[in-house]
Amino acid sequence: MSVNPRRQFLARTAAAAAAALIPIEVFGQAPGRKLGVALCGLGSLSTNQIVPALFKTRNCRLAGIVTGTPSKAAEWKQKYGLSDKSIYDYKTMGRMADNKDIDIVYVVTPNALHMEHTLAAAAAGKHVFCEKPLEISVDRCQRMLDAVKKAGRMLGVGYRLQFEPNHLECIRLAREKVLGDVKIIDANFGFAIGDPAQWRLNRALAGGGSLMDVGIYCLQTTRMITGENPVWINASEVKTDKEKFKEVDETILWQSKFPSGVVSNSICTYSANGLAGFRAATTRGWFSLDPAYFYNGNRGKRSDGPEINLPVGDQFATELDDFADCIINKRPSKVPGEMGLADVKFLMAIYESIKKGRPVSLA
Ligand code: NAD
Repeated sequence: MSVNPRRQFLARTAAAAAAALIPIEVFGQAPGRKLGVALCGLGSLSTNQIVPALFKTRNCRLAGIVTGTPSKAAEWKQKYGLSDKSIYDYKTMGRMADNKDIDIVYVVTPNALHMEHTLAAAAAGKHVFCEKPLEISVDRCQRMLDAVKKAGRMLGVGYRLQFEPNHLECIRLAREKVLGDVKIIDANFGFAIGDPAQWRLNRALAGGGSLMDVGIYCLQTTRMITGENPVWINASEVKTDKEKFKEVDETILWQSKFPSGVVSNSICTYSANGLAGFRAATTRGWFSLDPAYFYNGNRGKRSDGPEINLPVGDQFATELDDFADCIINKRPSKVPGEMGLADVKFLMAIYESIKKGRPVSLA
């Protein structure tokens, strides 16, 4: 068998090029400086979702941790090869000012601690990416925005679904009126919450119950699909376990109206599984995602036939890469602190409607 030297050369070159690409594909590394991220709060989300995602990003790397638990500090130090100077507790966060290796602090603590940790990070000169909800009151959100602005840094909110391809496809269907005008949105999310001692059921730490935790996704859906803000909200609450939910809401139902005439209907709950989707009814049909709010497997349908089932990468890696890119290229984030503040304002309007027993106008 004759061997073609040119073909051999091309094969070798291709193999060498592929080998050179392997680290990029496998470890998600790209040329140029990656921004250092310090994770503040090493609970379930940080451990199971965010830290694995960090190792898939192109623009970020794990550069530090903030934890109040010495055993976690030791475990993470060993597991991720962290140096002592990159490990902080909640009281020593201010020392990050001396650590040039940390660019971004990702705040992943209970809702009512987001302000304290954001203020500390901003005072140390760091950009802040904060989990949802931004905080538990509009005033506290505003203080976060002010502090980060004063520090000349960026504040982003962990709204991972703002980057999720299936959600983006639904926004396209709405904007391009592919199935006519959206008229009605039905969006629901809930789960049966376990341990009665957890912070999510403690008002001082959570600010509220299912609404603050999962109802916010339904609110985000309505704002994403309409591209508008609600101008009228009517809400009510149902409590079947007065002991477990003595401090926070268990189930909330609400309706809202939007300037274009779209109306929405939502339920969020801490007492049942199986609600995690939305459906938009349009003048010529409908489109839906169910599930819509999971880390993986979100998919949907359209009344005219095609499935909505686009490939989704790691949602946390995507949102982190985007935030880092905003910092590197000095462009605004599509999930800024202002968006987080606006959502908290609408969540407060839902609580206000429940309290007053009547609709609340936001126009
Ligand atoms: P978690 O309870 O698993 O972790 C919270 C962390 O905060 C723990 O490490 C805990 O030790 C620490 N902490 C510090 N001070 C504390 C205090 N006084 N009381 C209790 N814990 C304290 O919670 P989580 O599920 O990781 O949620 C953290 C944040 O992330 C919340 O704001 C939540 O809404 C948000 N979250 C977002 C998503 C998402 O999909 N974007 C998913 C889950 C949680």
